[in-house]
Amino acid sequence: MDPSLILGALLGAGMIGFLLLIRYKDLPQPKPVSPFRHLDERKASIYENLRDLQFEYRLDKMSDEDYRATKLELQKELAHVLEETDRVKERLGLATVVKPAPSKAAAASAKYTCPGCGATFDKALKFCGECGKPMSARSGVSQ
Ligand SMILES: [Zn+2]
Repeated sequence: MDPSLILGALLGAGMIGFLLLIRYKDLPQPKPVSPFRHLDERKASIYENLRDLQFEYRLDKMSDEDYRATKLELQKELAHVLEETDRVKERLGLATVVKPAPSKAAAASAKYTCPGCGATFDKALKFCGECGKPMSARSGVSQ
């Protein structure tokens, strides 16, 4: 057997043991860590930098050129963070979910409807099993 496989197996077992150990220690309830948290933090810090930048610019502490260059940098970074956020959302299936159109199969299985009482049946019946009225062929049968 390949020694690296054995090593891998040992490492894997050790890892699981370690995780179990942690699990059964009295740890405080693990807080659900939002996958967006670090992104939110980065976003917040970029906004803060932009504010500072504007502030300094208004105080004439920097040249137009510096101001514009720095602002562009920050905006690029912000765009990057927003992109990353979208990616995470997609990965988590939080992106705009496209709802499936009402399935045709479901509509088709809504089969044979009694014109009298509205009862539905899987099979075509001559007479309604609910109210006994005759069920015409065209009632509810869409073909
Ligand atoms: Zn009926």
